[in-house]
Amino acid sequence: MQIGCHGSVWTGTFDTDGLRLAIESTRAAGFDLIEIPLMDPGGIDRATVRALLAEHGLAATASLGLSARTDISSEDPDVVAAGERLLGTCLEVLADIGGTHLVGVIHCAMQKYLTPASPGGRRNSVEAIRRLAGRASDLGIRIGVEVVNRYESNLFNTGRQAVRYVEEVGAGNVFVHLDTYHMNIEEPDMYTPVLAAGDRLGYVHIGESHRGYLGSGTVDFDAFFRGLAHTGYDGPVVFESFSSAVVHPELSQMLAIWRNLWTDGADLGAHANAYIRGRLRSVASIGMH
Ligand code: MN
Repeated sequence: MQIGCHGSVWTGTFDTDGLRLAIESTRAAGFDLIEIPLMDPGGIDRATVRALLAEHGLAATASLGLSARTDISSEDPDVVAAGERLLGTCLEVLADIGGTHLVGVIHCAMQKYLTPASPGGRRNSVEAIRRLAGRASDLGIRIGVEVVNRYESNLFNTGRQAVRYVEEVGAGNVFVHLDTYHMNIEEPDMYTPVLAAGDRLGYVHIGESHRGYLGSGTVDFDAFFRGLAHTGYDGPVVFESFSSAVVHPELSQMLAIWRNLWTDGADLGAHANAYIRGRLRSVASIGMH
């Protein structure tokens, strides 16, 4: 199992210099993996990033949220095509830097919708993800569709709904991506969605209820980690936190990051790495009881 950290803990700028800082800092905090936000996939020097990852011995994944201009759940075929092109570029960048997973809100725009998802829009999303899954499979990449709360998507907001979506896609490399921050808003508890997803769970974000320091909010991490242990989950477990102290303007606005929850990314990251590994050790010991 790889324990990872989202790049936004370290910087809001993901050009080559920003990524160098994020990769060095992720390694220094003790993580195995960095999740790189690919808001602007064309802005990354792929060879340099690949070399930096190798130098620091880090695995990599990438994530993004689509916008209204690239919403593959749109009924406008031009918008769907723009989203599919963007995600196709992300897959190529990820393959070139040696990454393994493309995750996030890639099934629709990451925004507050004012109407329910339409059947036609849902069909467009499912079919686009199915086509992308074929390309990803050729590149050895897994796709995770992130379950986010009702203010950030209208396509699905719970693990059970996401399982139905993933089954509709019907590709062996498309998985459910759960995030404890969003689960804390929408799910009945932090345990049953993990069991409901079962083998369909392929990626996990660990975020606190206010997206700050783990353990300082209301998320029931004990129940969540017990769920992971119960199902034998062994995919990436990635810490995600956002503060207005470190901002990518586009991302922070989409995620409504209006206040400062921390200023020292190094302290936050080292704390999260120890917190996650500690919980995993605790639940692993249950097998000896
Ligand atoms: Mn997340």
